Order: sequence, then C-alpha cells, then structure tokens
Amino acid sequence: MPADFSATRWERAYRRIVRTAFLRVPFYRDQWVSAGRALAEPEPTPSAALTGQLHRLCPFAQPFDASREPSLWIDEGRELRDALSLVGAPSRTPVLEVRAATLDRRVLPRGVLPAWIGPRYGVLLSPGAKVLDEGRRRALNAEALRIAAEAGRATLIGERAALDALLPELDGIEVNTVERMTAAHAVLSKRAGVVHDPHLGYFAASATTCGRIHLLWRHFHAHPAGRALTVTALRRTRPTLVNVIPDDSGSLITAVCPEHGAPIVSTH
Ligand SMILES: [Zn+2]
Repeated sequence: MPADFSATRWERAYRRIVRTAFLRVPFYRDQWVSAGRALAEPEPTPSAALTGQLHRLCPFAQPFDASREPSLWIDEGRELRDALSLVGAPSRTPVLEVRAATLDRRVLPRGVLPAWIGPRYGVLLSPGAKVLDEGRRRALNAEALRIAAEAGRATLIGERAALDALLPELDGIEVNTVERMTAAHAVLSKRAGVVHDPHLGYFAASATTCGRIHLLWRHFHAHPAGRALTVTALRRTRPTLVNVIPDDSGSLITAVCPEHGAPIVSTH
C-alpha cells in the first residue's frame, strides 16, 4: 500500500483541476454561464450524462476530433494496473480484461512499484459483445487465450457473469479472477474486486490487506456533494472529469482507512 498519501497535496491537486476545468473546458465553463456567476466548483454530474459530451469535455486548445482519434473513453491501462496492484493480483501474470470491444494493447503500462514491469495484456470479448457470429468472437479472443496458455496462468477481470461464462475457455490454465463491480456493489457486498464506471474507468479497488474499498488516490479525488459521492480525475484533461457521480454509487461517502491512512469509499 502506498504510505505517502497527503490530504493537503490531494486537495491541492483537486483545486488545480477545478481551475483548469473552469478556465479551459467548455463543459464546465458553460456552468458559469448558466449560473450567471463564477461557481466555486463544478456541479455534480451523473456519469450517464457524460455520454456524447467528449467534444465539450476537452480543453478549447486541444479539441476532440472523432474522425482522427479513437474514443477518449478508452483508458490507458494505468488505473487498471494500480487497481490490480491493490487487490494483490500477481504482478507478472498476463492480464486478460473482459471488454465489449477488442483493443490493440499488448502490455499494461509500467507502474511506480518496482514489481510492476508491465504484464502482458489481452482482451476477451464479453458474451454480450456485438460480433458477427460465434466464429468471429473465437477468432478475436484467440490472441488473449494464446497469451494465457503460453504463461500457463492469467488474471481475468470482468463482471461476475462474464467471468463465469469465460472461465471454461481457460480450462487447464491457472486463473486468478478479479470481479469488476460498481462502487455500491463493491462496498455493500464486501467482495474483493475492482470498481469501475463506464466514464471514469477503474477508480477504486478492495485492498488485499484490509478488505476496504480504497480509492486510486494517485489518479482520482473524491468527496461527498450533498447525498452523492463525486469523483474527479486528477491526471487527465482529455476528457476533463470533475465531480462525476459514478454509476450506482448510491449514498456512499469517503472516509480514511484506519489501517492505511488513505481515502476509502464507504457507507454512512
Ligand atoms: Zn486499508
């Protein structure tokens, strides 16, 4: 567990991204316009309301161009890497992520922890993924299955139902499954796993040492706004995500882990 969390530095990083959002990003700038005054911080926005907003969530100076670049909702893998480190996934085991579409990525990015040399990475299409037929799905999954077979082991990440459906395809391979859940599901079920939102990506995970849902604080800030939990991406500006209410986050709050002194997501 990272021991060097500093609440002061964390708040400073949040204020910095809030400033950037209001000065440079249309989505947030427009909130000042509709309010008719300068707001102290962006209004909480439900994650679902961000669909179709990529062009407004990028800075004026670096606009999003759908004809020239892939969707910015595709993460770079750093958050997944840190989430896996929190849940104690073996660091050199190939990572297979269940996704709705395939992705041209061969390794996860190298981490700050020395043990992370960037494991091999592959995508397994979820049972509900839109493909021509079963043959095409198998062909697209073949590369990821080959990586796992070669190593004889794999860490498989996906929703419970997808994990159950795909496990038979990894027969004979030592598989460490990591369940992907919404924030409320993770906190209430007390099951080990990683927390994901369609727009924020991976933003928290259960820590292997204490079982609590730790926020990936190097990447995200979180605080309660009214009855909602809002999450802010600290390291990204394309898209700039400030005060986003994750899907299915119910009435969760943030707290400090009594064991680790770092921020966690919890219930009242
Ligand atoms: Zn903890």
